[in-house]
Amino acid sequence: MSQYASTPKTRLGRLPKRGSYDPAVIHPILDEALVCHVGFVIDEQPCVVPTLHIREGNSVFIHGSRVSRMLKHLAGGAPACITVTLLDGLVLARSGFHHSANYRSVVIYASGRPVEGDRKWAILDRFVESVVPGRLADIRPATRKEMNATTVIGFPLDEVSAKVRSGPPVDDAEDYDLPAWAGVLPLSLAPGKPVEDPLLRGEPPLPDYIKSYRRG
Ligand SMILES: Cc1cc2nc3c(=O)[nH]c(=O)nc-3n(C[C@H](O)[C@H](O)[C@H](O)COP(=O)(O)OP(=O)(O)OC[C@H]3O[C@@H](n4cnc5c(N)ncnc54)[C@H](O)[C@@H]3O)c2cc1C
Repeated sequence: MSQYASTPKTRLGRLPKRGSYDPAVIHPILDEALVCHVGFVIDEQPCVVPTLHIREGNSVFIHGSRVSRMLKHLAGGAPACITVTLLDGLVLARSGFHHSANYRSVVIYASGRPVEGDRKWAILDRFVESVVPGRLADIRPATRKEMNATTVIGFPLDEVSAKVRSGPPVDDAEDYDLPAWAGVLPLSLAPGKPVEDPLLRGEPPLPDYIKSYRRG
């Protein structure tokens, strides 16, 4: 696929030059981000819930407890809006008005469907591998009971847009002579020092995939 379609819902009104419908832009954002925010309306109340997600092909998947209110609601095909945000930096301009953020974000409009059978097992394994690549080989496989306690919902990437801001502040021409420092403070998600489980038995070595963990 060369581009996702721009639809009345996904057409950018503000700063459309920052928008993209290109899978080559959208997929890496979805893959780098660990967390998405799922918006839906339940009993006429808008609600936005953060959760982990993964992408596979032209779909995004979320998962969780079978009794989750959100998942039960979305399993019935209720419309959702899923957003993913990577905050890349703070943009410090010479006026408050022009302060901004550098970011890569995605907005998805979709109705989801529950994933069942072998595909569900495969997607749950992919969850582990997507969040911590290499992890699956070190842990015990999921049980039927755990599978039954878990709901997986897939959302097609039919109506989807990305928006990206990068680069320095854009100030008013007369403000460039002001003495204030201006520029970008880069921000990124970085792992801290691993903290061993106090109940760890034996002395399993810290896996290489933890030592070298990074996103993006
Ligand atoms: C970290 C971060 C900080 C931001 N801070 C601000 C801020 O302080 N003030 C501000 O006004 N805006 C901010 N934005 C931009 C904001 O997300 C909106 O794009 C902007 O406010 C325009 O909103 P709108 O409703 O007019 O969008 P419109 O352009 O009218 O939205 C139409 C469609 O364009 C697409 N779209 C819009 N925004 C995005 C997006 N960010 N990512 C992917 N698709 C999108 C969606 O499909 C949406 O349905 C920020 C974005 C990020 C990621």
